[in-house]
Amino acid sequence: MTRLALAAVVGLSLILAACGDKAPETAQAPAAAGGELNLYTARHYDADLKIYEAFTRKTGIKINRIELNPSQLIERMKAEGAGSPADVILMADAGALWRAQEAGLLQPVQSAVLQQRIPEQLREPEGRWFGFARRARVIAYDSAKVKPEEVASYEALAAPRFKGKVCARASDNIYNLSTLAAFIEHWGLDRAFNWARGIVANMARKPQGGDTDQIKAIGAGACEVALSNSYYYLRLVASDKPEDQALVSRVKIVFPEQDGLGTLVNISGGGVAANAPNKANAILFLEFLATDEVQSLFASANNEYPAVIGVAPPPTVAAYSQFKADPLPVSVYGKRQAEAQATFDRAGWP
Ligand code: FE
Repeated sequence: MTRLALAAVVGLSLILAACGDKAPETAQAPAAAGGELNLYTARHYDADLKIYEAFTRKTGIKINRIELNPSQLIERMKAEGAGSPADVILMADAGALWRAQEAGLLQPVQSAVLQQRIPEQLREPEGRWFGFARRARVIAYDSAKVKPEEVASYEALAAPRFKGKVCARASDNIYNLSTLAAFIEHWGLDRAFNWARGIVANMARKPQGGDTDQIKAIGAGACEVALSNSYYYLRLVASDKPEDQALVSRVKIVFPEQDGLGTLVNISGGGVAANAPNKANAILFLEFLATDEVQSLFASANNEYPAVIGVAPPPTVAAYSQFKADPLPVSVYGKRQAEAQATFDRAGWP
């Protein structure tokens, strides 16, 4: 895009933002803003509703929300084709966003605000999607049986020390695919394969359930260690249920690779739909998600970390926010997804 064209797009955004700022408190949609935004989201948090309301208050743009799981979302948009009313897609994991991208459901957008606010490694290089919250791939362990220094690296889980002691979810799970994709990028195929084979050899049981189920299995003594996304553990930490408090008093987490490349990080994020009828509103909405106030809310909805540098982590995660993060661009997770699945299959990880 030429500098002039970019300036025009940025200028348009500013004009719309300015109109929005003057929107009356009665929230009558200003005609200039186009009035509405169709949001397809795989998120389902009450806190997100507050974000949508704040956006409507600020801009007068009404949000029509459809909640779907990621595969439903992709199938629905494929079926709708060029006539899809979707303006913005929100979903978790860069590997899932890559699937939407590969299906041609997202369009590249130029936004000086998003380019400046969202760190480069947390967005798709052409602007098809942007990360708005970060999650870490941590190791949960039984503090009664395992010392944290025994699980200081991802490869520790694949060593003989944990024979019959590892719980895991299925290999077609997007979090596992993104994890192995990162290892392939860092280590090469052979070492990544050996890691997967080592985990298979160490499995306490057939892969089953979600991340929270792995944490609960550790608490129940079925295994000693498991991978988990940070927010599943932090949700239990924030819970006031006695059984959750008992669980987190026994099961702890480490942020692996603190002496190496850093703990793997993934994102929740979104982008502008390929055939967005309200594209300018869609860009405004994504820019709104990148503001300091909304960053905090968006992250806290799912016990994640803000994507924008300098925004304080929400209180529920603050105690777990000091860790060295792997700087790998998260767009790698999608690009290596097919290799990751093939490697899992070759290693015999169900
Ligand atoms: Fe999740």
